[in-house]
Amino acid sequence: MIIIMRAGATQTQIQNVVSRIEKDGYKAHLSDGSERTIIGLIGDDRPIDRRTYEVMEGVEKSVKVLQPYKLVSRDLYETDTIVNVNKIKFGDSQIGIIAGPCSVEDRTQLLETAHAVKEAGAQALRGGAFKPRSSPYSFQGLGEKGLKILAEAREQTGLPIVTEVMTPEQIPLVTNYADVLQIGARNMQNYELLKSVGRTSHPILLKRGMMATLEELLMSAEYILSEGNNNVLICERGIRTFEKYTRNTTDINAVPVLKSLTHLPIIVDPSHGIGKWNFVTPVALAAIAAGADGLIIEVHPKPEEALSDGGQSLIPKRFAELVTKSRAIAAAIGRK
Ligand code: PEP
Ligand code: MN
Repeated sequence: MIIIMRAGATQTQIQNVVSRIEKDGYKAHLSDGSERTIIGLIGDDRPIDRRTYEVMEGVEKSVKVLQPYKLVSRDLYETDTIVNVNKIKFGDSQIGIIAGPCSVEDRTQLLETAHAVKEAGAQALRGGAFKPRSSPYSFQGLGEKGLKILAEAREQTGLPIVTEVMTPEQIPLVTNYADVLQIGARNMQNYELLKSVGRTSHPILLKRGMMATLEELLMSAEYILSEGNNNVLICERGIRTFEKYTRNTTDINAVPVLKSLTHLPIIVDPSHGIGKWNFVTPVALAAIAAGADGLIIEVHPKPEEALSDGGQSLIPKRFAELVTKSRAIAAAIGRK
């Protein structure tokens, strides 16, 4: 349920409602809008007596949120949430582009890629130091050494770092180096991990599980917000279908549908979504046309030598072309 306070409700009136919510055994989630304060009442599925709150001073009305996810729902916050990552405002009119290799492999590879994607117009650098690989015998990432290389790249380029965290235990280490914590597709329903990143103040890039419905994806985002972290970027990265010519199937439908269901920014990862470098750009453009707030793209200076996902990685020159074409599509729909 959401409690909408009257415009001009006093701090005492707001505090009284919060205290009442907590006394009733729920959590209060406050949002101070420019005109009025909205209070989300979060808790179990017990029926709530709305009149208890509606008669309180300063309360305008209460609204029942019908979806199972509450804090991420548009019913709760109609206006788009802006997630700030350095100077990028995901969810605003400018489309944010994150680019970099699948994995940090060594210092030369990462620094070369970082400078190239920056030059091409990327606003953030991606690169995995902890890699969730399908095989235990595949490259697992450089761990802290990789994080240190990412930090050096940030120092040299000014680009904020997006990198994956795979376990709650890794969070203190990864937050020391990263600007955005990525939750990978395979961990989308790792609820302990979701709760743990929800207790950090870092922005989270939450990737859709390859077999997850949009409702399951939003429920996972709800876990993060319910712990107090509202800075979540939701990422469509392709789902498993019967199609074999592509690695996954980018669910373009997800973009407008998610935009209608949630106020959180929506990012698309066409690299994993289609899994073949020569199709990444058209899908990226389609994502922007469909209303995505950002892209995350794999770029590698020598894809044929990449330790992971070389087949879907763009060389820097092609990434630069993607950015140029993105500008045209963004302009066509009134964005930047
Ligand atoms: C990645 O971003 O390199 C990655 C492993 O992505 P996903 O979790 O979507 O497979
Ligand atoms: Mn990858």
